[in-house]
Amino acid sequence: MRCSCGKEVYFTRIYEGTNLCKICFVRSIEKKVKKAIRLNKMLERGDRVAVALSGGKDSSAALYILNQIVKQRPDMEIFAISIDEGIGPYRIKTIRKSAALCRKLGVKHHVYSFKKEFGSPLPKLLKLNPRLNACTYCGVLRRDLLNRKARNLGATKLAFGFNLNDEAESVLLNFMFGNIGKFTRLGPVLKTENIKKFVPRLKPLREIPEEELFAYCDAVKIPYYSRKICPVGKESVRKSIRKCLHEMEEKYPGTLFQIVKFADVIIPPLRKHFENKGKVIYCSVCGEPASKELCKACELLRKN
Ligand code: SF4
Ligand code: ZN
Repeated sequence: MRCSCGKEVYFTRIYEGTNLCKICFVRSIEKKVKKAIRLNKMLERGDRVAVALSGGKDSSAALYILNQIVKQRPDMEIFAISIDEGIGPYRIKTIRKSAALCRKLGVKHHVYSFKKEFGSPLPKLLKLNPRLNACTYCGVLRRDLLNRKARNLGATKLAFGFNLNDEAESVLLNFMFGNIGKFTRLGPVLKTENIKKFVPRLKPLREIPEEELFAYCDAVKIPYYSRKICPVGKESVRKSIRKCLHEMEEKYPGTLFQIVKFADVIIPPLRKHFENKGKVIYCSVCGEPASKELCKACELLRKN
């Protein structure tokens, strides 16, 4: 079997029934991502784009492709932010890979740690509050830090490497738990114009399946860390959904796309219906956007 251009096949897209050589595959990924950026108006004149870079394949690919666009635009800037949660050699290695990619691309790299910003690394914070799920704790603090630092560095957009699998998992997860607030915050772009301190979030890779991002990073030789998973994150509902969706996709190719497509149809009217029309609240301790008197990060830290 050959690619339609005649070259040897590098990747087979089962859900599309296409066989692609390395060059056609790379081109098709970049074309899809750039189209999603354009159609969803992710970038605007004068944007300063911060990329949340973990050192894994997803955020590394997001930085790589966004950098291709931004470097053609003299009015735009791009930089990367990595968060060191203090989770040992795993994070040290991923941050090394992030730094290597930023050097290769000539992109400025900023690193912030839980230890410096919240007083202790994640495992220590968790010991003080063992009933909490590690990923919930970690996710809230990381998002808080990323938003704060991106804003302080003058970012007008904050881009994440969420892929198609992540988005489909989030759709099902929030649906299962009836979390309408979080559900309506899904989608390619999250802007909350009435909340000044919130940097709009972008998900340029949201239509790209996880396995294609592995193949893309390998094809264009992006340095990323893939060997070991986080030593702190434990079994969670999200992981169970991930396994289940993996099986469904194997049996019924295209399942992930259908889930995300369905969410795309129902999210805009739901957003309109449920959007927060009340007064914007800012945390009484740190001043960051909040849904009640204390933001989620201060609430978690206070419990310690
Ligand atoms: Fe944090 Fe969980 Fe990710 Fe580990 S797996 S870095 S604990 S969110
Ligand atoms: Zn706060």
